[in-house]
Amino acid sequence: MSYLKQIDVENFKSWRGKQIIGPFLRFSCIIGTNGSGKSNVMDAISFATGERSSSLRVKHLRDLIHGAHVGQPVSRSATVCLTYCNDEEEETQFSRSITGDSSEYRVNEVQVNLSQYLRQLEEIGIIAKAQNCLVFQGTVESIALKDPKERTKMFESISQSRELSSEYEQKKAAMLRA
Ligand code: ATP
Ligand code: MG
Repeated sequence: MSYLKQIDVENFKSWRGKQIIGPFLRFSCIIGTNGSGKSNVMDAISFATGERSSSLRVKHLRDLIHGAHVGQPVSRSATVCLTYCNDEEEETQFSRSITGDSSEYRVNEVQVNLSQYLRQLEEIGIIAKAQNCLVFQGTVESIALKDPKERTKMFESISQSRELSSEYEQKKAAMLRA
């Protein structure tokens, strides 16, 4: 199973110029004082897995550029590159850049469209369309307070087992009939 090894950022939110976040282990913990940029790390991961601006705590994609939050963007573009590593220590790089509000996606430096990008992420087990894979600040409580059926649905969508549920029900019914 692939894990996130490193994040390279350039002019993204609180990072000015090119900077490296990581390397991470299979389990990593980020600590820091209030406002130090912990949630920005989550935003960087969401951004580079194809998320839209509405879920990234900004109105427009261009607001993600360093300095844009105070009306002084340092550049017209920003980039986040995620390096995933599999069990054989092979690396795959997923990178998203914005220029103004338009995005470009690259897998191992080759430009692809968004659906190819999301498909290649899925191939290494990153299911971007399954919301809640990333649990953001303040949402732990809302997950805990979901009713059990809703919570089950959420885990089914993250694990993609929901797609198998009709097959499961058919096989269960056949077994009960036998
Ligand atoms: P808390 O513990 O309060 O949740 P945090 O560590 O999660 O804090 P973040 O929300 O990740 O903090 O980071 C907030 C910081 O990011 C602020 O200081 C803000 O100035 C900075 N920031 C946000 N957008 C930009 C931007 N476009 N350019 C530069 N800095 C930015
Ligand atoms: Mg935070």
